[in-house]
Amino acid sequence: MNLGLKRKTALITASSKGIGKAVAEAFASEGCNVAICSRTKIDLIEVSEEMREKYDVVPLWCICDLNKSSDIQTTFEAVIKEYGSVDILVNNCGGPVPGYFLELDENDWNHAYEQVLMSVVRFSKLVIPQMVKNKWGRIINITSISVKQPVDNLMLSNSLRAGVTGFAKSLSNEVAKHNITVNNVAPGLTLTNRLYELAVIEAKEKSKSHEEILVEMAKRVPINRLGRPEEIASVALFLASKQASFVTGNTIQVDGGFTKGLF
Ligand code: NAD
Repeated sequence: MNLGLKRKTALITASSKGIGKAVAEAFASEGCNVAICSRTKIDLIEVSEEMREKYDVVPLWCICDLNKSSDIQTTFEAVIKEYGSVDILVNNCGGPVPGYFLELDENDWNHAYEQVLMSVVRFSKLVIPQMVKNKWGRIINITSISVKQPVDNLMLSNSLRAGVTGFAKSLSNEVAKHNITVNNVAPGLTLTNRLYELAVIEAKEKSKSHEEILVEMAKRVPINRLGRPEEIASVALFLASKQASFVTGNTIQVDGGFTKGLF
Protein backbone atom coordinates (compact mmCIF):
# COMPACT_ATOMS: atom_id res chain seq x y z
CA MET A 1 0.00 0.00 0.00
CA ASN A 2 1.32 3.46 -0.86
CA LEU A 3 1.13 5.52 2.34
CA GLY A 4 2.09 8.75 0.57
CA LEU A 5 5.05 9.33 2.88
CA LYS A 6 8.01 9.07 0.51
CA ARG A 7 10.41 12.01 0.99
CA LYS A 8 8.32 13.56 3.75
CA THR A 9 10.46 14.62 6.69
CA ALA A 10 9.70 12.93 9.99
CA LEU A 11 11.21 14.12 13.27
CA ILE A 12 10.88 11.56 16.04
CA THR A 13 11.91 12.62 19.53
CA ALA A 14 13.44 10.34 22.19
CA SER A 15 14.20 7.87 19.42
CA SER A 16 17.40 6.03 20.33
CA LYS A 17 15.56 3.13 21.97
CA GLY A 18 12.26 1.34 22.38
CA ILE A 19 9.10 2.77 20.85
CA GLY A 20 10.72 5.97 19.52
CA LYS A 21 13.37 3.97 17.69
CA ALA A 22 10.75 1.62 16.22
CA VAL A 23 8.75 4.63 15.00
CA ALA A 24 11.86 6.11 13.37
CA GLU A 25 12.53 2.78 11.64
CA ALA A 26 8.95 2.59 10.40
CA PHE A 27 9.28 6.01 8.75
CA ALA A 28 12.68 5.08 7.31
CA SER A 29 11.16 1.94 5.79
CA GLU A 30 8.64 4.18 3.97
CA GLY A 31 11.37 6.30 2.37
CA CYS A 32 10.99 9.36 4.62
CA ASN A 33 13.79 11.71 5.57
CA VAL A 34 14.20 10.81 9.20
CA ALA A 35 15.55 12.89 12.09
CA ILE A 36 16.18 11.19 15.42
CA CYS A 37 17.22 12.62 18.75
CA SER A 38 17.94 11.72 22.35
CA ARG A 39 20.51 12.61 24.99
CA THR A 40 23.29 10.13 24.20
CA LYS A 41 25.54 10.47 21.16
CA ILE A 42 26.76 6.88 21.13
CA ASP A 43 23.19 5.51 21.07
CA LEU A 44 22.25 7.84 18.23
CA ILE A 45 25.25 6.78 16.17
CA GLU A 46 24.35 3.13 16.74
CA VAL A 47 20.75 3.63 15.63
CA SER A 48 21.87 5.66 12.67
CA GLU A 49 24.24 2.88 11.56
CA GLU A 50 21.52 0.24 12.03
CA MET A 51 19.09 2.24 9.91
CA ARG A 52 21.65 2.65 7.17
CA GLU A 53 22.17 -1.11 7.05
CA LYS A 54 18.49 -2.04 7.25
CA TYR A 55 16.80 0.66 5.15
CA ASP A 56 19.60 2.40 3.29
CA VAL A 57 18.54 5.60 5.06
CA VAL A 58 20.98 7.73 7.01
CA PRO A 59 18.98 9.72 9.54
CA LEU A 60 19.95 13.12 10.80
CA TRP A 61 20.73 12.72 14.50
CA CYS A 62 20.78 15.45 17.12
CA ILE A 63 21.64 15.39 20.77
CA CYS A 64 18.53 16.68 22.52
CA ASP A 65 17.52 16.60 26.14
CA LEU A 66 13.77 17.14 25.97
CA ASN A 67 13.88 18.91 29.32
CA LYS A 68 15.96 21.72 27.80
CA SER A 69 14.14 24.21 25.61
CA SER A 70 17.48 25.30 24.08
CA ASP A 71 18.11 21.70 22.89
CA ILE A 72 14.64 21.58 21.38
CA GLN A 73 15.34 24.82 19.49
CA THR A 74 18.73 23.63 18.15
CA THR A 75 17.30 20.25 17.14
CA PHE A 76 14.51 21.94 15.20
CA GLU A 77 17.00 24.29 13.50
CA ALA A 78 19.25 21.37 12.53
CA VAL A 79 16.33 19.53 10.90
CA ILE A 80 15.25 22.64 9.00
CA LYS A 81 18.82 23.20 7.82
CA GLU A 82 19.08 19.62 6.57
CA TYR A 83 15.58 19.01 5.14
CA GLY A 84 13.82 22.39 4.90
CA SER A 85 10.75 21.49 6.96
CA VAL A 86 9.28 19.04 9.44
CA ASP A 87 6.24 17.41 7.84
CA ILE A 88 5.66 14.82 10.55
CA LEU A 89 6.44 15.38 14.20
CA VAL A 90 6.29 12.37 16.51
CA ASN A 91 6.52 13.53 20.11
CA ASN A 92 7.87 10.67 22.16
CA CYS A 93 9.65 11.06 25.50
CA GLY A 94 11.23 8.97 28.23
CA GLY A 95 8.74 7.67 30.80
CA PRO A 96 8.36 9.95 33.83
CA VAL A 97 9.66 8.56 37.11
CA PRO A 98 7.32 6.03 38.66
CA GLY A 99 5.94 6.65 42.14
CA TYR A 100 2.88 7.07 44.31
CA PHE A 101 1.74 10.60 45.25
CA LEU A 102 3.40 10.80 48.67
CA GLU A 103 6.73 9.58 47.29
CA LEU A 104 7.04 12.37 44.70
CA ASP A 105 8.39 15.82 45.42
CA GLU A 106 8.01 19.09 43.58
CA ASN A 107 11.19 18.51 41.55
CA ASP A 108 9.74 15.26 40.23
CA TRP A 109 6.58 17.09 39.16
CA ASN A 110 8.51 19.91 37.48
CA HIS A 111 10.83 17.51 35.70
CA ALA A 112 7.95 15.40 34.41
CA TYR A 113 6.00 18.50 33.34
CA GLU A 114 8.94 19.67 31.19
CA GLN A 115 9.58 16.18 29.86
CA VAL A 116 6.03 15.02 29.11
CA LEU A 117 3.98 18.15 28.40
CA MET A 118 6.31 21.06 27.63
CA SER A 119 8.46 19.13 25.15
CA VAL A 120 5.29 18.47 23.12
CA VAL A 121 4.19 22.10 23.39
CA ARG A 122 7.63 23.43 22.40
CA PHE A 123 8.20 21.17 19.40
CA SER A 124 4.63 21.69 18.17
CA LYS A 125 5.04 25.46 18.39
CA LEU A 126 8.19 25.29 16.27
CA VAL A 127 6.91 23.02 13.51
CA ILE A 128 3.37 24.33 12.99
CA PRO A 129 4.10 27.63 11.15
CA GLN A 130 5.83 25.76 8.30
CA MET A 131 3.11 23.07 8.26
CA VAL A 132 0.55 25.85 7.85
CA LYS A 133 2.54 27.24 4.89
CA ASN A 134 2.79 23.76 3.36
CA LYS A 135 -0.92 23.10 3.99
CA TRP A 136 0.05 19.66 5.29
CA GLY A 137 1.28 18.31 8.58
CA ARG A 138 1.02 15.49 11.06
CA ILE A 139 1.63 15.65 14.79
CA ILE A 140 1.53 12.36 16.65
CA ASN A 141 2.11 12.10 20.38
CA ILE A 142 3.11 8.85 22.03
CA THR A 143 1.25 8.86 25.33
CA SER A 144 0.10 5.85 27.36
CA ILE A 145 -2.93 3.77 28.26
CA SER A 146 -2.72 5.76 31.50
CA VAL A 147 -4.89 8.36 29.69
CA LYS A 148 -7.71 5.81 29.56
CA GLN A 149 -7.09 3.98 32.79
CA PRO A 150 -4.64 5.26 35.43
CA VAL A 151 -1.81 2.84 36.18
CA ASP A 152 -0.82 2.10 39.80
CA ASN A 153 2.48 3.69 40.82
CA LEU A 154 2.54 6.02 37.78
CA MET A 155 1.08 9.21 39.29
CA LEU A 156 3.12 11.50 37.02
CA SER A 157 2.21 9.69 33.83
CA ASN A 158 -1.45 9.46 34.87
CA SER A 159 -1.58 13.22 35.49
CA LEU A 160 0.58 14.73 32.76
CA ARG A 161 -0.40 12.52 29.83
CA ALA A 162 -3.93 13.73 30.36
CA GLY A 163 -2.53 17.24 29.80
CA VAL A 164 -0.98 16.13 26.51
CA THR A 165 -4.31 14.62 25.47
CA GLY A 166 -6.17 17.86 26.24
CA PHE A 167 -3.50 19.87 24.45
CA ALA A 168 -3.65 17.62 21.38
CA LYS A 169 -7.44 17.78 21.15
CA SER A 170 -7.46 21.58 21.44
CA LEU A 171 -4.64 21.94 18.94
CA SER A 172 -6.31 19.57 16.48
CA ASN A 173 -9.36 21.86 16.43
CA GLU A 174 -7.19 24.92 15.77
CA VAL A 175 -5.05 23.51 12.96
CA ALA A 176 -7.47 21.19 11.14
CA LYS A 177 -8.30 23.93 8.60
CA HIS A 178 -4.66 23.90 7.52
CA ASN A 179 -4.75 20.18 6.76
CA ILE A 180 -2.71 19.38 9.86
CA THR A 181 -3.84 16.44 11.95
CA VAL A 182 -2.97 15.90 15.61
CA ASN A 183 -3.42 12.49 17.22
CA ASN A 184 -2.09 10.38 20.07
CA VAL A 185 -0.98 6.77 20.19
CA ALA A 186 -1.41 5.27 23.64
CA PRO A 187 0.75 2.18 24.11
CA GLY A 188 -0.12 -0.58 26.51
CA LEU A 189 2.44 -2.96 28.05
CA THR A 190 5.21 -3.01 25.46
CA LEU A 191 8.48 -4.85 25.85
CA THR A 192 11.15 -2.13 26.12
CA ASN A 193 13.68 -0.91 28.71
CA ARG A 194 10.94 1.15 30.32
CA LEU A 195 8.73 -1.90 30.94
CA TYR A 196 11.74 -3.84 32.18
CA GLU A 197 12.44 -1.05 34.72
CA LEU A 198 8.80 -1.05 35.85
CA ALA A 199 8.93 -4.84 36.19
CA VAL A 200 12.04 -4.56 38.40
CA ILE A 201 10.20 -2.13 40.70
CA GLU A 202 7.09 -4.31 40.91
CA ALA A 203 9.29 -7.36 41.53
CA LYS A 204 10.82 -5.66 44.58
CA GLU A 205 7.38 -4.69 45.93
CA LYS A 206 6.09 -8.25 45.55
CA SER A 207 9.33 -10.10 46.42
CA LYS A 208 9.35 -11.84 43.06
CA SER A 209 11.78 -11.88 40.18
CA HIS A 210 11.32 -9.39 37.34
CA GLU A 211 11.00 -12.36 34.95
CA GLU A 212 7.99 -13.57 36.93
CA ILE A 213 6.49 -10.08 36.85
CA LEU A 214 6.95 -9.83 33.07
CA VAL A 215 5.10 -13.14 32.70
CA GLU A 216 2.33 -11.85 34.99
CA MET A 217 2.15 -8.60 33.01
CA ALA A 218 1.69 -10.55 29.79
CA LYS A 219 -1.18 -12.47 31.40
CA ARG A 220 -2.93 -9.17 32.25
CA VAL A 221 -3.24 -8.49 28.52
CA PRO A 222 -6.25 -10.18 26.85
CA ILE A 223 -4.09 -11.02 23.83
CA ASN A 224 -1.89 -12.89 26.34
CA ARG A 225 1.46 -11.31 25.52
CA LEU A 226 3.36 -8.05 25.73
CA GLY A 227 3.37 -5.63 22.82
CA ARG A 228 6.30 -5.12 20.50
CA PRO A 229 7.59 -1.59 19.77
CA GLU A 230 6.91 -2.13 16.03
CA GLU A 231 3.23 -2.67 16.83
CA ILE A 232 3.04 0.82 18.32
CA ALA A 233 5.08 2.23 15.43
CA SER A 234 2.76 0.86 12.76
CA VAL A 235 -0.18 2.81 14.21
CA ALA A 236 1.90 6.00 14.27
CA LEU A 237 2.81 5.34 10.63
CA PHE A 238 -0.85 4.90 9.72
CA LEU A 239 -1.76 8.19 11.44
CA ALA A 240 0.86 9.95 9.32
CA SER A 241 -0.30 8.34 6.09
CA LYS A 242 -2.56 9.83 3.42
CA GLN A 243 -5.07 7.09 4.33
CA ALA A 244 -5.53 8.74 7.76
CA SER A 245 -6.24 12.20 6.33
CA PHE A 246 -9.68 12.45 8.05
CA VAL A 247 -8.47 11.23 11.47
CA THR A 248 -7.69 13.99 13.93
CA GLY A 249 -8.09 14.78 17.62
CA ASN A 250 -8.00 11.07 18.46
CA THR A 251 -6.23 8.81 20.88
CA ILE A 252 -5.72 5.28 19.60
CA GLN A 253 -4.78 2.77 22.26
CA VAL A 254 -2.51 -0.05 21.14
CA ASP A 255 -2.67 -2.39 24.07
CA GLY A 256 -3.75 -5.90 23.10
CA GLY A 257 -7.11 -5.21 24.78
CA PHE A 258 -5.64 -4.21 28.16
CA THR A 259 -7.85 -1.13 28.69
CA LYS A 260 -11.19 -2.23 30.08
CA GLY A 261 -13.33 0.88 29.40
CA LEU A 262 -15.43 1.62 26.32
CA PHE A 263 -13.68 4.90 25.42
P1 NAD B 1 12.45 3.41 26.62
O1 NAD B 1 12.92 3.66 28.00
O2 NAD B 1 12.68 2.11 25.98
O3 NAD B 1 13.00 4.54 25.63
C1 NAD B 1 12.93 5.89 26.00
C2 NAD B 1 13.69 6.76 25.01
O4 NAD B 1 13.61 8.11 25.50
C3 NAD B 1 15.17 6.44 24.92
O5 NAD B 1 15.60 6.61 23.58
C4 NAD B 1 15.83 7.49 25.82
O6 NAD B 1 17.15 7.78 25.45
C5 NAD B 1 14.92 8.68 25.53
N1 NAD B 1 14.91 9.71 26.57
C6 NAD B 1 14.68 9.56 27.88
N2 NAD B 1 14.73 10.76 28.51
C7 NAD B 1 15.01 11.68 27.55
C8 NAD B 1 15.21 13.10 27.57
N3 NAD B 1 15.13 13.82 28.70
N4 NAD B 1 15.48 13.71 26.40
C9 NAD B 1 15.58 13.01 25.26
N5 NAD B 1 15.40 11.68 25.17
C10 NAD B 1 15.12 11.02 26.32
O7 NAD B 1 10.87 3.73 26.70
P2 NAD B 1 9.67 3.21 25.79
O8 NAD B 1 9.06 2.02 26.42
O9 NAD B 1 10.09 3.17 24.37
O10 NAD B 1 8.61 4.36 26.05
C11 NAD B 1 8.44 5.48 25.23
C12 NAD B 1 7.30 6.28 25.82
O11 NAD B 1 6.09 5.48 25.82
C13 NAD B 1 7.56 6.67 27.28
O12 NAD B 1 7.08 7.96 27.50
C14 NAD B 1 6.76 5.64 28.04
O13 NAD B 1 6.37 6.09 29.32
C15 NAD B 1 5.56 5.44 27.12
N6 NAD B 1 4.90 4.18 27.37
C16 NAD B 1 5.60 3.01 27.35
C17 NAD B 1 4.94 1.82 27.64
C18 NAD B 1 5.67 0.51 27.66
O14 NAD B 1 5.07 -0.49 28.12
N7 NAD B 1 6.88 0.41 27.18
C19 NAD B 1 3.57 1.84 27.94
C20 NAD B 1 2.90 3.05 27.93
C21 NAD B 1 3.57 4.22 27.65
